[in-house]
Amino acid sequence: SNDLWEAWLASSLGHLRDAGLLRTLKPVLPTLSAVQVLVPGDVLAPWIEEGGGHPSQEVTQHGAAVKLFSTNDYLGLSTHAALRRAAADAALLYGVGPRSSAVVGGYTLLHQDLERRLAALKGTEECLLFSTGFAANLAVVSALGNGEDAAIFSDELNHASIVDGSRLASRSKGRLHIYRHNDMEHLEQLLRDCPSHQRKLVVADSLFSMDGDFADFEGLVRLRRKYAFLLVVDEAHATLVCGSRGAGAAEAFGVADEVDVHIGTLSKALGAHGGFVACRADVKTLLLNKGRPYVFSTAPPAPVVAAAIAALQVNEEEPERREHLWRLVRHLGEGLGVKACSPIVPLIVGSEAAAVSASAALLERGFYVPAIRPPTVAPGTSRLRISLSAAHAMEDVDALLAALTECGIHASADSGLVIRGGS
Ligand code: PMP
Repeated sequence: SNDLWEAWLASSLGHLRDAGLLRTLKPVLPTLSAVQVLVPGDVLAPWIEEGGGHPSQEVTQHGAAVKLFSTNDYLGLSTHAALRRAAADAALLYGVGPRSSAVVGGYTLLHQDLERRLAALKGTEECLLFSTGFAANLAVVSALGNGEDAAIFSDELNHASIVDGSRLASRSKGRLHIYRHNDMEHLEQLLRDCPSHQRKLVVADSLFSMDGDFADFEGLVRLRRKYAFLLVVDEAHATLVCGSRGAGAAEAFGVADEVDVHIGTLSKALGAHGGFVACRADVKTLLLNKGRPYVFSTAPPAPVVAAAIAALQVNEEEPERREHLWRLVRHLGEGLGVKACSPIVPLIVGSEAAAVSASAALLERGFYVPAIRPPTVAPGTSRLRISLSAAHAMEDVDALLAALTECGIHASADSGLVIRGGS
């Protein structure tokens, strides 16, 4: 059982309730206040439906088309007609800025609708929207992990927002333990050494953003049963990418019910902007009251909320997008001769200079694959980071593979990673 967490949540919320300070959010405004409709939506419709603007994974630089293998737009939804429409209509109807934080009136029925849909996707009681995924991570880790009776266990490769949330928590006396990447023996040793009176919080990215590998869900779940910690998983890169319904990597690994707090972003596969936390009702209430990035920051704007709702609809109506994405992943892996396990495929190059020159050589050939360097990754592991999108065609991947070969970038089969040889 997780008695420590139950008792702590009940007492944290109880203190606020006793002091008459407990905030429970009700939608205050049915929509944002009515704003004069300046341009009828129909005027924009033909432009949007004809795919106005550039496609999701291509830009034009000095008159030449450049294929992007750099975005987090995994399903190619950022330029999907339904999202453009939804955002444009919402902007025309409600305006752009939400004008205040959610707790002061920036929360509307539109926000509530999106929260309900995300909770349904994740299979949780509740959900809470944030202005970014960064803010969501910061709020969760700092609000749950503070106090000297708290102990946070964080994978060494977790995202910067988890690192910063942990630092905030440890300034409020929460104990911070970093375990080696996906090393369950190390995590278990740290858990075993942790005094039993401490509330334990284990936080992991579900799909690691710079390596493209997954958390060891099996190991995490086994340890959660043994040590009764709260399991927080950041599904920023996996939401709509993994799982049969797109619920994320926890769904794909069959352990969604064992995850206590699911964090996500609307800014990657959902093609919009913002973040969210899907969780139980009491954790949501805690975040509403103690999640400073939630309380003291402006609510997400109506156009992006509307676009995210449209993205969830497209996710249901066009499952072939995710299927195509995974076909691209397999094709790229086969072409490179490595096991690519996600749409994020790192090509480890080594030095910063080598990564930058490899990226420049590809750009000359019309492909943008960013060079990722320290401090984002450890010194000596600079890399090209290929990210795939359903907006790519098989031929785009073939063309990229040909360009990589031309540039002398090839896979090292035994390491499973990819190194640059030749010139
Ligand atoms: N978590 C991970 C793993 C990420 O990669 C990112 C964004 N790079 C975030 C959280 C933050 O999300 P957002 O961009 O919506 O702030």
